[in-house]
Amino acid sequence: MKLNETIADISIVAGALMTSRKIEVDDSRELVARVIEWTEQFEREHSESYWDEGLDYMTEIEVFAEAKLVEAYGAVDPFRCPACGGENVATFLHDRRQCCLSCGERFELPAEEAEQFN
Ligand SMILES: [Zn+2]
Repeated sequence: MKLNETIADISIVAGALMTSRKIEVDDSRELVARVIEWTEQFEREHSESYWDEGLDYMTEIEVFAEAKLVEAYGAVDPFRCPACGGENVATFLHDRRQCCLSCGERFELPAEEAEQFN
């Protein structure tokens, strides 16, 4: 894949996540710098990948971009699913983990939320 194409694809994912309020970006210049950084990382990780042999570029770049963006700019609401943004999140008190009832994603309870169950 060409670098320019990857930059554009990550930017499209960023725009979609901003629109759906799954991420919040205050400094667009910083976002641009990160998108370029992530593009270089993605290209390094996939320098040996052959996209037509079972690896789907669109899936890989979207999963990669969303993970990076949510990690860097994700909204802080602890009871929102970090994967799909859904609010139907169940908390399992015995292991202090949460499970999203919309997409099935499991994740750690944020530290400040876990404290109240101690
Ligand atoms: Zn979810």
